[in-house]
Amino acid sequence: MFIDSHAHLTDPKIICDFDRVRADYLNANVGLVIDVGCSLKSSVDVMGNADRYREIYFSAGCHPDVAGEVNDTAIEKLRELSRHPKCLAIGEIGLDYYYEGFDREVQKSAFIKQLDLAVTLDMPVIVHSRDAWQDTVNILKEYAPKLKKGFLMHCYSGSREIAEILLKLGAYFSFGGALTFKNSKKSEVVKALPMDRILVETDCPFMAPVPHRGKVNEPKYVPIVYEFLAGVYGVSVSQIESQIELNFNKFFNM
Ligand SMILES: [Zn+2]
Repeated sequence: MFIDSHAHLTDPKIICDFDRVRADYLNANVGLVIDVGCSLKSSVDVMGNADRYREIYFSAGCHPDVAGEVNDTAIEKLRELSRHPKCLAIGEIGLDYYYEGFDREVQKSAFIKQLDLAVTLDMPVIVHSRDAWQDTVNILKEYAPKLKKGFLMHCYSGSREIAEILLKLGAYFSFGGALTFKNSKKSEVVKALPMDRILVETDCPFMAPVPHRGKVNEPKYVPIVYEFLAGVYGVSVSQIESQIELNFNKFFNM
């Protein structure tokens, strides 16, 4: 069985054709998907999917793009969602300095408030970080000892050096379609990481793997990333499959 550890199934690009998308990934032997919340509204929506479909689990959190909505009321709402038996983590939360015009202090404060929530709830965290490595590392250095259930660097795009620092803090890393892009240096980063700290994701509808690059990504493409990883580590796809399942169950306490 393949696992997609990070999907956005309530995204308009997916939801418009959901029955077909679901049938396709089930046919491709993708037997478990985490539908990741990225705002208060989407966290409620993904819970709805988890209620309707046995193989869908979810996480609740506010992405740095909507950092401004993370006030006390929002934290209470996330706390409420987290009590759902299929809520596996707080996330995706973090820092994203790629686009100009977002207030970095507001992002840091939203990230920290949600990390505090995860500490109180004793839940794992799904971290989004893009072009914000210094601040991400500084914050995670402080929080890693308190986050007893650990944290996952989703769609990891940092350097090998940063990966090694995060690894020492106990991080798990998940990789998606970008791993398969030509000129991607990610294979070098992956090779430096132990196989028992790796997870696989699509981040769909974004980042479809080669040869579907540029199209709408879907969970049915996650086996392509597994194949690519098997190549990087020089093992069989079935070995990667069982290793990822072990990692997934350990990280998300399944
Ligand atoms: Zn995402």
